[in-house]
Amino acid sequence: MPAVSRTVRRGQPKRHSFPFPPRHHKSNSKSVTQSFDLILAGGGLANGLIALRLAQTRPDVRVAIVESGPGIGGDHTWSSFGLDINEEQRRWTQSLFVHRWDCYSVRFPQHARTLDVGYGTTNSAALAAALADALPPSSIITNMPVVALTPTSVTLADQRVLTASGVIDGRGQKKTDALDLRWQKFLGQEVELAQDHGLKGPIIMDATVPQQDGYRFVYTLPFGPRHVLIEDTYFSDGRDLAPDLLRRHIADYAAAQGWQITRTIREEAGILPLAIGGDIEKFLDEGTPGVARVGLAAGLFNPVTGYSFPDAVRMADLVAGLPDFSAATIHRAVRDHAVRVWNSRGMYRILNRMLFLAAQDEERRTILERFYEHPDDLVGRLYAADNRLLDWPKVFSGRPPIPPLRALGTLVRYELGLK
Ligand SMILES: Cc1cc2nc3c(=O)[nH]c(=O)nc-3n(C[C@H](O)[C@H](O)[C@H](O)COP(=O)(O)OP(=O)(O)OC[C@H]3O[C@@H](n4cnc5c(N)ncnc54)[C@H](O)[C@@H]3O)c2cc1C
Repeated sequence: MPAVSRTVRRGQPKRHSFPFPPRHHKSNSKSVTQSFDLILAGGGLANGLIALRLAQTRPDVRVAIVESGPGIGGDHTWSSFGLDINEEQRRWTQSLFVHRWDCYSVRFPQHARTLDVGYGTTNSAALAAALADALPPSSIITNMPVVALTPTSVTLADQRVLTASGVIDGRGQKKTDALDLRWQKFLGQEVELAQDHGLKGPIIMDATVPQQDGYRFVYTLPFGPRHVLIEDTYFSDGRDLAPDLLRRHIADYAAAQGWQITRTIREEAGILPLAIGGDIEKFLDEGTPGVARVGLAAGLFNPVTGYSFPDAVRMADLVAGLPDFSAATIHRAVRDHAVRVWNSRGMYRILNRMLFLAAQDEERRTILERFYEHPDDLVGRLYAADNRLLDWPKVFSGRPPIPPLRALGTLVRYELGLK
C-alpha cells in the first residue's frame, strides 16, 4: 500500500485539531478495521520517541501507537549523559527531562572522581504526558496487546485490525539465540530520607560495595534534597534477580551513608542485555518478515552500559526523516541502520569479553576502575557508544587489570568458538 501523502500545516495546535482522524469501517461482523499511515506496535521508549518526533516534525502523518500495558512507557526512569546526543536532539527531547545535573561521580576502592559532564533523567510519565499532548486520543491505544503483525497490519487482542502503509515493531527485549548476551540487572527504590543527603549530582557507580554475582555497584540519583533513587546493580553472567536481597542491600547502603529511609515511594527493576557477540542479521530475521524492528528488539543498546535512550532518539530522527512510510522503505532504512550500528560496536563487545570472560572475581571492578582514570571526553564517548579508533589503544593499554596473556587467550578462544 503506498504511503498516504498529506499537506502539512505546520505550527497548528495539534491536540484537539488533528486533521486526519483514523478511518473506520466494519470489515465483517466480528472485527473493525482502522487505517493509519504508520502503526507502532509496543508503546515503550523507542516507539514513544518515534511517535513524539513525528508529531513534532510531520503532524500530517496519522500514527497509532499500541501498548499492552496500562500506560505508554511502563514505569521506568531513563537517564542519559549530556554528550550522548547532539544539540538538536537535546532540544527536541528537552521537555521530557524531569531532572538534570551538571556533574556526576564514580567511586571505586582506590579512586573516586567527579566528572563535569551533564546527566539527565526522564521517565515513563513524562513520555506518556508528552504523547498525550502531541497526539489525538484515538492514536494512543493502551491495555491492548498486539497479537499478530504483518508489514501493513496489526491485529489487536480485541480482534480489531489496524492497517497502515507501514508497521514498526518496538515490543522490547526478545528472547534470542542469535546474540551472545550478559546482563545488567538491578532493583531500584525511590525513597524519602529523614535528613538531607548532601549529594550535588548522581553517583553513577559506587563500586566500593562488596562484590558479588559479577561486578556490583550502587547507582544513586538525587531527585531532591531528601529524595533519592538508589539502585543495587550487577553486571552478571545470569539473569536471576533476588528482589528481597537487593532491597536489603539498598537499606544497608542507605544506612552506611548515614541516611534514614522514611518512605519508599516507588520501585523499579530491570534485566538489561549487554552484548559480547552475536549475529545481528540472524537476530533481526527472528522478527516478522518485512516488519521493521526498533529499540531493544533491533539490538539497539550500548553493549557495555545497556543504555538505549540515545539510540532511541537517533532512531526517532531517522524514522521521522524518511521520505515515505511504506513498509519497504521503513524496513530497509531501519534494518540497515540497526546492522550498521551493531557492526560499528565490535570494540565494545571485545571490552565486554574482557569483563565477562577474561576477568575473574574482583578483576571486573578493576577494569571499570581503570577505565574511569581516562579523560572525561573519552569516558563520555564510551557512554555515547561513539569512541574513535584512537580511543581504543588507550582503553586497552596502561596498567593491565588482567594478565595480558589471559586476555589474549580469551579473545582468541572466543573467535575460534571455544568459549
Ligand atoms: C527499569 C529500567 C530502567 C532503565 N534505565 C535506563 C536508563 O537510565 N537509561 C537508558 O538509556 N536505558 C535504560 N533502560 C534500558 C532501556 O532504555 C529500556 O529497556 C527501554 O525501555 C528499551 O526501549 P524499547 O522501546 O526497546 O522497549 P520498552 O521500553 O520495553 O518497550 C516495549 C513496549 O512494548 C510493550 N509490548 C510488549 N509486547 C507487546 C504486545 N504484544 N503488544 C503491545 N505492546 C507490547 C511493552 O509493554 C513495552 O511497553 C532501563 C530499563 C529498565 C527496565
